Amino acid sequence: MAKWVYSFGDGKAEGNAGMKDLLGGKGANLAEMSNLGLPVPPGFSITTEVCSYFYERGNSYPTDLKPAIDSALTTIGARANATLGDPNRPLLVSVRSGARVSMPGMMDTVLNLGLNAQTTEGLAKLTEPRFAYDSYRRFIQMYSAVVLGLEHSFFEEILDTEKELKGAELDTDLGADDLRNIASLFKDCVREKLGRPFPEDVHEQLWGAIGAVFGSWQSPRAKTYRRLHDIPEEWGTAVTVQTMVFGNRGATSATGVAFTRDPATGEKLLYGEFLINAQGEDVVAGIRTPQPISKVVRERQSGKRPSLEEAMPQTFTELQAICAKLEVHYRDMQDLEFTVQEGKLFMLQTRSGKRTAEAAVKIAVDMEREGLIDKKVAVGRIEPAALDQLLHPTLDPDAEKELIAMGLAASPGAATGEIAFTADEAEKVAAERRDVILVRTETSPEDIHGMHAARGILTARGGMTSHAAVVARGMGRPCVSGAGMIKIDAKNGVMTAGKHTLKRGDVITIDGATGSVYNGRVGLRQPELTGDFGVLMAWADAIRRLKVRTNADTPDDASTARKFGAEGIGLCRTEHMFFDNDRIVAVRQMILADAESDRKAALAKLLPMQRQDFEGIFRAMEGLPVTIRLLDPPLHEFLPQDDEEIAAVARAAGGDPAKLRARAIALHEANPMLGHRGVRLGITYPEIYEMQARAILEAALNVEKAGGKPVQLEIMVPLVAWKAELDRMKERIDAVAAQIRKERGRIPDYLLGTMIELPRAALQAGEIAKTAQFFSFGTNDLTQTTIGISRDDAGMFLMDYLNKGVLTRDPFVTIDTEGVGELVRIAAERGRRSRPGLKLGICGEHGGDPDSIRFCHDSGLDYVSCSPFRVPVARLAAAQAALASVKNID
Ligand code: ADP
Ligand code: MG
Ligand code: MG
Repeated sequence: MAKWVYSFGDGKAEGNAGMKDLLGGKGANLAEMSNLGLPVPPGFSITTEVCSYFYERGNSYPTDLKPAIDSALTTIGARANATLGDPNRPLLVSVRSGARVSMPGMMDTVLNLGLNAQTTEGLAKLTEPRFAYDSYRRFIQMYSAVVLGLEHSFFEEILDTEKELKGAELDTDLGADDLRNIASLFKDCVREKLGRPFPEDVHEQLWGAIGAVFGSWQSPRAKTYRRLHDIPEEWGTAVTVQTMVFGNRGATSATGVAFTRDPATGEKLLYGEFLINAQGEDVVAGIRTPQPISKVVRERQSGKRPSLEEAMPQTFTELQAICAKLEVHYRDMQDLEFTVQEGKLFMLQTRSGKRTAEAAVKIAVDMEREGLIDKKVAVGRIEPAALDQLLHPTLDPDAEKELIAMGLAASPGAATGEIAFTADEAEKVAAERRDVILVRTETSPEDIHGMHAARGILTARGGMTSHAAVVARGMGRPCVSGAGMIKIDAKNGVMTAGKHTLKRGDVITIDGATGSVYNGRVGLRQPELTGDFGVLMAWADAIRRLKVRTNADTPDDASTARKFGAEGIGLCRTEHMFFDNDRIVAVRQMILADAESDRKAALAKLLPMQRQDFEGIFRAMEGLPVTIRLLDPPLHEFLPQDDEEIAAVARAAGGDPAKLRARAIALHEANPMLGHRGVRLGITYPEIYEMQARAILEAALNVEKAGGKPVQLEIMVPLVAWKAELDRMKERIDAVAAQIRKERGRIPDYLLGTMIELPRAALQAGEIAKTAQFFSFGTNDLTQTTIGISRDDAGMFLMDYLNKGVLTRDPFVTIDTEGVGELVRIAAERGRRSRPGLKLGICGEHGGDPDSIRFCHDSGLDYVSCSPFRVPVARLAAAQAALASVKNID
């Protein structure tokens, strides 16, 4: 026979903390605290198996559940010396929901269950009337809202009217008679709204509440939450029924919540709030302003009313001792709920406390030092994605701020600077070494240079997957997107935000972590990469096997990434070098040339510029590996757009504008994604790749000659589908190398490899690896080409898919293991079979995603490469992949 009910209380329990699956997080931890001998009001938990039974059998219960509950009620009644429904010694209970992990959408707790007209009179005699009627009216309101589905506002209106009638300002100003009257008005309200009376039968009340908890497991909110967080339907919820203790029994009673350390900073002190003479959720409900628990905190906030430490020193000491005991026991920071009834402390809940990234890092490092956890556990404790919060400047919390608009928190970090309305403007201001915020209605690929030059980006339109948001996150620029109330008139250089009108050059501050836009300059705090953060990252580095590189196109990005711990460049794209203002004309001249000789003449102009770019990057990387991708995008991306631009090219090349225009039209790509691009360009115009190969090799020689460490060169050919394509390019590049050796007496070592970004390439990896010395998985394009959705077009459509539950993960964020991931595994396996030791890495945006990093680790890749600001995230995720650590939830 199954055991459906587990009791706890009086220093013992049938369950323990290891039984979260069965008892829910709350029930299991209440049992654990009882076992530890902590003061926990006695109660019992009804298991999650009853929940499953309930749903499998059309909302009915196992026949032996009722006797089990009756017997558990008898046990706790004996401990509390009271009986449910007995007017002389009424037992009151709370009914609490509890899944394995805490889950919004579940039923709210019902307090004071067991009160009816008679038991309330009994309670009034036993205690005092005001308390009894206050409890009763609270119960009616809560039960009606939570179990019977009536709106809270009905009851609040009644309460407000009565308070007004009595001239009472606070609930506490109401007397016993007022409260009795209010309870009866509440009951009238229930009868009127529901057409039936409020249940007087205490067992009906109890079963009603239990059914409501189980019912809430299938509420739309709970279902949505489960879908978004990958929580299986089968888990179910437990129900905990617990003897009431009362924080609303006068000046020596109180209720509160506490963290064993400060959840914002991690500082080791008792952090939390409490209210004297209050019950349950009053603390968080905002009806009265709660007081801090610790004296230091009160002093820091210059609070007038006493802390718990001052108001109830003995209780505080007791709570402190319990907190210390719980921390040692659970080896983690705890978030707990307590109540003081007439000077006696009771524990009502404990669980691992949520914390900011800053606090998480400090707590993990401190606890290792305190000997509570080891380094592996410490590293496993930090949510890699949360590190994002730590790697960007934040607003000075003490600074005065004037909020002028709100948008989406599109890319974290705070930035302050002068407004620029175009990318060129932004670049100009930045060139004068002034901070600039690029403000656009929305951004497009032509704005990249301005986004790069800007400290932060603000757009009036666009969501979390808009161009601005995606690019800003990749660059590590703070971004607020879709600030709809901002109207931009770029032509005249003004914007309005509500009543504010701001001009080009005026200063604003944005906070990409909250989506706020402020007027003027707000002080910033720079991220702290040393201290505890540095310690933790060093522990992570000692654990991980995967190397972490960065995607960087400029020396600036390269040095930022190195500060964050990058061990090389996994993807250096060369096309941005072509977009530069002073180069684009030569690039266009090259593209539009009819004859090879004209093209070579234009390329000769570009060679020294490219060489210089590479020198800068190689110097920044000081001998670390650098993967350079040869030109990838379709040429039409570089084409002149208008007559003026065509005229400029005609002047430089000495050609005929009309002919140039015709050629520009001819070069237009119908399908930029899959058209004439990548290695296909290299095959048609080998002189482009030859120029790039020369620039790379000469740059490496120059850096070495100037005393720099020899760079580990990896030349990467994009978009290969056939081995023959790579063979041809290898022939050309090797020939350039041979030529340089003739000219300069030597050439630097280099590897030649390819990006695997087409399904055909992945399947042909065995063949391709005969030529390629390394593979880098370009998972952005591989995702597009595998699942047949283009990233740019997919934004809205993917959102819809995610909302409808067709997809549980965004495949452009986390590697789709069944499609793209399968191809990666196949390519890795086939590639290494024909070339053992083939170097394998990933350079798509997935390289910075913790789940994808786990996949890369498991698939035997050598490194991941991600944007500079993601490097620490990747280092930590790689360590956790190595630990395969189970994250510590609830
Ligand atoms: P949640 O999951 O929303 O935190 P809880 O079940 O923890 O809900 O209940 C909320 C609050 O109700 C608790 O913090 C506590 O203050 C109060 N509470 C719950 N059970 C009892 C009880 N048996 N005695 C006194 N207060 C209780
Ligand atoms: Mg709680
Ligand atoms: Mg590509």
